[in-house]
Amino acid sequence: MEEDFLNDLNEQQRDAVLYTEGPELVIAGAGSGKTRVLTYKIAHLLQMGYPPYRLLALTFTNKAANEMKNRIAEVVGIETASRLWAGTFHSIFSRILRANADRLGYRHDFTIYDASDSLSLIKSIIKEMQLDDKVYKPSTVQSIISNAKNALIEPHVYAKNRELIEMDTRSKRPLICEIYRIYRHRCFVSGAMDFDDLLLNTNILFRDHPDVLQHYRDLFAYILVDEYQDTNFAQHLIVSQLGKEHNRICVVGDDAQSIYSFRGANIHNILGLSKEYPGLKIFKLERNYRSTQNIVNTANSLIAKNKEQIPKQIFSQKEQGNKVKVISAYSDFEEGFIVSNRIAELRLTTHCRYNDFAILYRTNAQSRTLEEALRKRNIPYRIYGGTSFYQRKEIKDAIAYFRLTINPNDEEALKRVINYPTRGIGNTTLTKLIDRAHESGLSIWNVLDDPKGNGVEVNSGTLNKLQGFKELIESFRLAATRQTTAELAETIVRQSGIMRDITAERTPENISRQENIEELLNGVQEFCTLRQESGEENTTLSDFLAEISLATDQDNGDEAEQDKVTLMTVHASKGLEFKQVFIVGVEENLFPSSMSQESEREIEEERRLLYVAITRAEENCTLTYALTRYRNGQTVSSPPSRFLKELDPRYVDMPAQARQEQPLEERPWRNSFAGEWGRKPFRRDDSDDSRTPAPRPFTAPAPAKRLTRIESRPASDNSSAPQTSATTAAGAIVVGSRICHARFGNGTVSAIEGTGDNSKITVEFDNVGRKQLLLKFAKFTLI
Ligand code: ATP
Ligand code: MG
Repeated sequence: MEEDFLNDLNEQQRDAVLYTEGPELVIAGAGSGKTRVLTYKIAHLLQMGYPPYRLLALTFTNKAANEMKNRIAEVVGIETASRLWAGTFHSIFSRILRANADRLGYRHDFTIYDASDSLSLIKSIIKEMQLDDKVYKPSTVQSIISNAKNALIEPHVYAKNRELIEMDTRSKRPLICEIYRIYRHRCFVSGAMDFDDLLLNTNILFRDHPDVLQHYRDLFAYILVDEYQDTNFAQHLIVSQLGKEHNRICVVGDDAQSIYSFRGANIHNILGLSKEYPGLKIFKLERNYRSTQNIVNTANSLIAKNKEQIPKQIFSQKEQGNKVKVISAYSDFEEGFIVSNRIAELRLTTHCRYNDFAILYRTNAQSRTLEEALRKRNIPYRIYGGTSFYQRKEIKDAIAYFRLTINPNDEEALKRVINYPTRGIGNTTLTKLIDRAHESGLSIWNVLDDPKGNGVEVNSGTLNKLQGFKELIESFRLAATRQTTAELAETIVRQSGIMRDITAERTPENISRQENIEELLNGVQEFCTLRQESGEENTTLSDFLAEISLATDQDNGDEAEQDKVTLMTVHASKGLEFKQVFIVGVEENLFPSSMSQESEREIEEERRLLYVAITRAEENCTLTYALTRYRNGQTVSSPPSRFLKELDPRYVDMPAQARQEQPLEERPWRNSFAGEWGRKPFRRDDSDDSRTPAPRPFTAPAPAKRLTRIESRPASDNSSAPQTSATTAAGAIVVGSRICHARFGNGTVSAIEGTGDNSKITVEFDNVGRKQLLLKFAKFTLI
């Protein structure tokens, strides 16, 4: 058996797997088998006799952990594999925190606040403190607090850190530290931890309770970590603490794929390992097994431009493959159209399934136009890491009731449902309750015990309603002691009134909500059954909540089995691979992001991000950029990304325009089209192009940046007969005019109707078909 599975490795990989004498770092480029090494190493350790429950494997997503367990199960059997401590940092350390919660003054069934709970709490604190939320932007405050936690800076330490305080004063937000203090306290009173607390509190647990640390040091005989380049200080310190004594630690990573510095990840964690572990043995892997030569070489040529990196070789012995393709689109709209067309085409020519395709983007907001285009073409897709099942409103409502049943001090859950379904408890009453709770250091739930006695002025009607709500939650708590978990979940959904509320009207949205709630109940049932099968008799609602609250953005895999195109951000794609990859929006101000251009450091991180994106592709990699894009309510134009020029032309098929240095204004738009669909690109003298209705001299269109709508003037005649011309500030449009539209690209005017402001033109667009445009609003130029 042992020999069998080691045969799946090359020599370098095998050496890395077999080395167990001391601390080890496997540092290698994308697709070289780092994750495979880690997986096989665990199998090898199990075969050496290490008990599974003494191996700690930390991955970036739950999905990765499960894949690892499944792979290991093939070698050592499911029974053994399921007893491994394998999971994300957050899931493993929440487990440890639950077991030791009392040491930190928490109950073992503490609630985990997700990002939206945490944001909502920050918002209410800012409001209560009567601060201007334009200055104290809640999302900014949230990320400052998050960064502080990941750097292990608690509020009292923050308050003494002159640098931080000066920074806040300079940015006119001197009270950040105070918000942080209140936030942390309020989480504590609510019996809740946010995601960052799971790491911060583990560190505090280990720091303040050496016996607990020693227990886990002794327990974990070997520690293995994937994607080490993206660990932040809090994670790095936990690993160091646990691994320090025995030094049996194996971490794998690629400095060229470090893409989470905005969350505090520090590339130096990996670079500094040799100092931390004397005798650290470094293994390098050089052969990429994932991608064709053209893809690997393209990625190499890009990353070579980064100065800060560990020199590495990476080569592919797969076939040369197609060149990486770069395609230009006029607009995001056309980009979606091009991508969906190409998916349809590649699916036929390569016999790939939809599952083999991924569309990667820099920001979530980009998915909308892509979704639109895919839907039009009837291409099934899933958004990975988008609004996951558990983020849907009705599910969050039901979960809030679940949470309150387990932990009635949970402030965010209480605020969410105290008046949902509507029961006449208004915002004023809630505000009074919250204020009283915070003044007296109690939870809202405690104040509800005796609102008047606690100083909340309410009339008797409101008092009854509050009492009713409290009794409702009490009844669920009582049910929890009598019913099975699945029954309890159903009781809550029904008795709370949620089900009644969403079945009151049979709208399509409500039907889908109802299905979601039923799916949630199925989920509870299934979870209990699974646990029972693995020998766990008593599964509580609290266990279920613990499980789902740790589903990461990337784990939204409920539909993973179905044949669908995957849409996701580049960040979420880390560690994954797809035969066909599209990277969209490769433009200045988007990729690299407009927010990451201040320093070479930031640009290097954006470059690494593109490196990650390209290296997800196995067979074909297509990059697209749009000359104009609808963002934040307006059309903006940006030149192609600077990174495109850095790709070695030997491996890339790219429109000349993407390499040109001149600013976009000077570029004739017509030349931007890549001729991708088997057509010749336009040229100045391209008068024989069959799509051009009449030969006409080439006129450079107006520069993209100055794209404005063409003012229509009242037509001179007011007949209602179809018109043959309309006069615009920029000249006359006649049937047959060629225009270039900001979103739809090039097209030919086929009809003109109406007069003055109401003039409408019908245009046969080359790529997107027929559209009617109101002259008053349409944004296009004559070409
Ligand atoms: P990333 O940096 O993107 O996380 P990685 O270095 O972790 O990549 P893996 O995901 O482990 O790489 O491997 C990439 C692909 O190559 C996988 O499909 C894996 O199964 C395959 N692979 C790795 N090593 C071998 C090998 N020796 N023989 C055949 N296939 C291999
Ligand atoms: Mg990997």
